[in-house]
Amino acid sequence: MSDSPVWHPFTQHGLREPIPLVTHAEGAALYTSDGRRIVDAISSWWVTTHGHANPTIMAAIAEQAGTLDQIIFAGWTHQPAEDLARGLTAIMPPELTRVFFSDSGSTSVECALKMALGYWLDRGEDRHRILVLEHSYHGDTIGAMSVGARGVFNRAYAPLLFDVGTIPFPAAGREQATLDALEAACAAHPAAFIVEPLLLGAGGMHIYPPHVLAEMRRICARHDVLFIADEVMTGWGRTGTLLACEQAGVVPDILCLSKGLTGGAIPLAVTMATEAIYQAHYGTDRARMFFHSSSYTANPIACAAANANLAIWRDEPVRDRIADLAARQATRLEALARHPRIANARQIGTITAVELRGEDGYLSQIGPRLLAFFGARDLLLRPLGNTVYVMPPYCIDDADLDRIYAAIGEACDRLGHES
Ligand SMILES: *Cc1c(COP(=O)(O)O)cnc(C)c1O
Repeated sequence: MSDSPVWHPFTQHGLREPIPLVTHAEGAALYTSDGRRIVDAISSWWVTTHGHANPTIMAAIAEQAGTLDQIIFAGWTHQPAEDLARGLTAIMPPELTRVFFSDSGSTSVECALKMALGYWLDRGEDRHRILVLEHSYHGDTIGAMSVGARGVFNRAYAPLLFDVGTIPFPAAGREQATLDALEAACAAHPAAFIVEPLLLGAGGMHIYPPHVLAEMRRICARHDVLFIADEVMTGWGRTGTLLACEQAGVVPDILCLSKGLTGGAIPLAVTMATEAIYQAHYGTDRARMFFHSSSYTANPIACAAANANLAIWRDEPVRDRIADLAARQATRLEALARHPRIANARQIGTITAVELRGEDGYLSQIGPRLLAFFGARDLLLRPLGNTVYVMPPYCIDDADLDRIYAAIGEACDRLGHES
């Protein structure tokens, strides 16, 4: 492996940790070239919703691949994109009338920020500032990093990141401080507030309640500040509902979707916007159009996969599956939470997270050691520091769930003995 020219993401190659070669995947299982069956407990980094190699999605990809592979999307269109845009406007909040395509969560966020600024330019108001929530993550491109938390992940690029207003995370008991800070920041006429609804993922699986999300939305509306919901991770049922915003009765001005949009099979993203955002870019003046594109915008094969995902949501009992997985996760989390080494056990929908108690300093070493520990037990779990979370595909069975929770319990036992 070490002589491979591949440079992997978020990987320190100098540590020479083994990099398994995956040959195929099905449902919640990954199969490696050395004959192992790995349980995919994090949905291959949060993308796989209905399971790997879902037959409906695979068939749609195969059929589309034999018909139309790729076409420029500036000034041209194709049926899979038309169908997908209609399908999305039908299933998402009716206020979001427009669908702009891109390729990843990061680009959907870039588009959202550019749309917001384009809106204010059209209104003749000098508004550029973006408000963000503490601990947030919105992607790894420069703009997306700018609206995310600063840290070791982006220290090298800090001089290039634009300045934002950071609102404190609404931790339990400190919700009012968050709302007050947002109210004060909104009074200074920023362009937009971007938020991960109910769950801050990469920032550490921090959960906050729907009533806070609803109040944040009301504050933005009152001050005419655009509200951008980044549902790249929370969308497609992860938090128990199709969108996390649904639980708060919130409709954003701009909505970012990716990851589960194609069921996790192939890259695609959309940025959905209200008619007002669209109209700000509409007219006969070419200088006002939305200046954003990438080569593979609305790739037909990716759109076909997303249409298959919509068909699954329409034709199969996906919501029941999600509720069932949430309940099966809850039982196991409850048992795990009794372990003395477990702190802050929490759950939202299909996702659970716990902190492994340890000593400071020592803690920084826990992440990589846990990764190796779980890997040796044929589990794909990738803790965020000492936060271990479980976010499986909706089709995972009880036996695999049991294996995941048994291993986390065993990791806690080991930790107790070593420290
Ligand atoms: C993963 C993620 C992104 C970035 O998506 P990519 O497809 O990795 O670029 C953006 N926002 C949130 C909330 C995410 O979880």
